[in-house]
Amino acid sequence: MENNAAPAGGGASLVKAVFASVNGRLREGVPASGVTTLSVGGPIQYLVTVESVAELQAVMRLLSSEEQRMYVLGHGSNLLVADAGLAGWVLRLGSAFKGVECSAQGEWLVGGAAPLMALARQVSDQGFSGLEFAAGIPASLGGSVFMNAGAHRGEIADRLVSVTGVLPDGELVTWRRDELPWKYRSSGLPAGVVVTAAKFQLVEGDRAEISRRCTENLTYRRSTQPLTVPSAGSVFKNPSPEMSAGRVLEDAGLKGASIGGAIVSPMHANWIVNPEKKASASDVARLIEMCQHQARDRLGVFLEPEVRMWK
Ligand SMILES: Cc1cc2nc3c(=O)[nH]c(=O)nc-3n(C[C@H](O)[C@H](O)[C@H](O)COP(=O)(O)OP(=O)(O)OC[C@H]3O[C@@H](n4cnc5c(N)ncnc54)[C@H](O)[C@@H]3O)c2cc1C
Repeated sequence: MENNAAPAGGGASLVKAVFASVNGRLREGVPASGVTTLSVGGPIQYLVTVESVAELQAVMRLLSSEEQRMYVLGHGSNLLVADAGLAGWVLRLGSAFKGVECSAQGEWLVGGAAPLMALARQVSDQGFSGLEFAAGIPASLGGSVFMNAGAHRGEIADRLVSVTGVLPDGELVTWRRDELPWKYRSSGLPAGVVVTAAKFQLVEGDRAEISRRCTENLTYRRSTQPLTVPSAGSVFKNPSPEMSAGRVLEDAGLKGASIGGAIVSPMHANWIVNPEKKASASDVARLIEMCQHQARDRLGVFLEPEVRMWK
């Protein structure tokens, strides 16, 4: 969530009130490089971890009442935070939101902080199909719903029944799948919502076959994507289903291009990697701009970033 307001951070009494609301789970000046998979970015002014919906509602109400700028952090696998860091409040769901429950009817209720990769493995091990595409996506459930993460012709929205989240004014809302305007890499959830849980309808099937599909997807990833070095996955959205951003960047001759420590991966042109963890956020941002300019100038293609930039 990225709503602009001022003054950033608020006064000491607000900090004290938030601190008390979350039993002290508030950290100051946390380096973004430590909580994002790209490993870049400066200090987050306030990082708050909530362990219940009631805590989340209380904190959001406090921050909204003082018109504070709020962000929500999942696993940081699609984020670029500026070198100067972030003035304001970042909310994160704690381990109480990692629950996964399956009903007798094959409905899976999953907490917003549950790791998507582990979820994909867990459901497939139990013989449920529908999340094979997610094997290898290092997201939180909440982040993957917000982004409508997808791969291998599947996406989060496909098997979703409903999404539950808290709005900035503290209201807890559940949306049925068909109440949201899902698009490629977008849920259309209202600005500022924090997704706390989602429900999926998965289909029981042949366990060995489902597991085989997960393994096949992972094997394909390992052979085509630079998974062993820091990155944020695909940097740009595909311009169309027929035209991949990776192909555009490769055709524009950008594989291997670099600025500072940031490199367009020689393995996959739509991935910017930080192999030695020496890149700054500005290196990455400038490389993103360079890719956009060259894709436009050489091939006439506009590339829209998929990576979310916080500054
Ligand atoms: C190695 C690698 C492989 C990847 N492969 C894929 C892929 O195949 N397909 C794909 O789609 N993406 C892929 N990604 C990108 C990334 O994993 C997805 O975009 C994912 O959905 C981000 O989830 P996150 O929890 O890390 O969110 P973050 O990166 O923390 O946040 C991303 C956005 O989601 C919002 N957000 C996070 N949590 C919540 C919440 N609980 N409620 C509301 N908003 C929230 C944030 O505010 C931000 O706007 C990959 C990334 C990496 C590093």
